[in-house]
Amino acid sequence: MPVVYFVVPCYNEEEVLPETIKRLTIKLFKLIESGRASKQSRMLFVDDGSKDKTWELIEQFGKENKFVGGIKLSRNRGHQNALLAGLMTARGKCDCAISLDADLQDDIEVLDQFIDKYNEGCEVVYGVRSSRDKDTAFKRGTAQGYYKFMAMLGVDIVYNHADYRLMGSRALDALAEYKEVNLFLRGIVPLIGFRSDYVYYERSERFAGESKYPLSKMLKFAADGITSFSVKPLKIISNIGIIICFLSIIFFIYSLVSFFTGSSVAGWASQMCSIWFLGGLQMLSIGIVGTYVGKIYSEVKARPRFIIEKTVINEDYGKENKKN
Ligand code: UDP
Ligand code: MG
Repeated sequence: MPVVYFVVPCYNEEEVLPETIKRLTIKLFKLIESGRASKQSRMLFVDDGSKDKTWELIEQFGKENKFVGGIKLSRNRGHQNALLAGLMTARGKCDCAISLDADLQDDIEVLDQFIDKYNEGCEVVYGVRSSRDKDTAFKRGTAQGYYKFMAMLGVDIVYNHADYRLMGSRALDALAEYKEVNLFLRGIVPLIGFRSDYVYYERSERFAGESKYPLSKMLKFAADGITSFSVKPLKIISNIGIIICFLSIIFFIYSLVSFFTGSSVAGWASQMCSIWFLGGLQMLSIGIVGTYVGKIYSEVKARPRFIIEKTVINEDYGKENKKN
């Protein structure tokens, strides 16, 4: 029986946490009773620098409920970093870790299937949303467009998969080897490889509180996904550059012809157009190149991606349970 860790990033989640812990505890009991998970399985809550009572709640529940563990990050580092902190803490203590959101939007009834697939030998199991009916038309449209765009840029991500995912200990060890600072886990995990499978589920609405992912964070996340995984935007720019150069040669010939045929009086408009157009294009290019340079900068500095301030885990992880 595998030791399973649920890794749950939490940012200002005091409204949902008591209910989430209750539901996950019941689920974990069922998994243990049905012989799917070992008694050493745990829930690991990662407090991502919350400003509310999230950490106090984790500590308090940790005292009453031996299945509840937690780590507190020194400040808010964002969902992906919090998740990584949790996964890296679980690594070495468990046979597999399942990441899920604190609001339980991801259906926990399919956890059995995750573990079954793991027992069948899968090292990574992706939770995939079977439909997006509950999303607003805007979110559905943008999300789907984004997946298609990523595929076009040659980035291998699983369609309609967020961060509801099981990773075995070998996958976690491999993940630890990825040192990048601009984290986009859905892009990294498929790169790791190993045998993988999918579990399909319906995503429900948040049962309390509000989304911690405003549009601004979502856009940043989407841009990170592209610039951390694809250099095609750079190629597109050089292609545009080539095309513009070619067009300007044609334009140059055209203006020479107009000059010699004596019809070159009104040159102001075309000049202004080209100055503005090329100026804009250059700025856009420099901006995109700058994005990459910025990334190189932060990768080269190799800052730690998280710093754990406190840890409470009631741990009695038996070595005999470890998968080879
Ligand atoms: N989250 C986090 N740090 C952040 C933002 C969000 O750890 O800076 C967590 C949050 O507590 C939740 C998960 O990430 O468990 C997903 O966030 P949310 O449910 O608000 O996003 P949505 O489902 O609306 O996309
Ligand atoms: Mg949510």
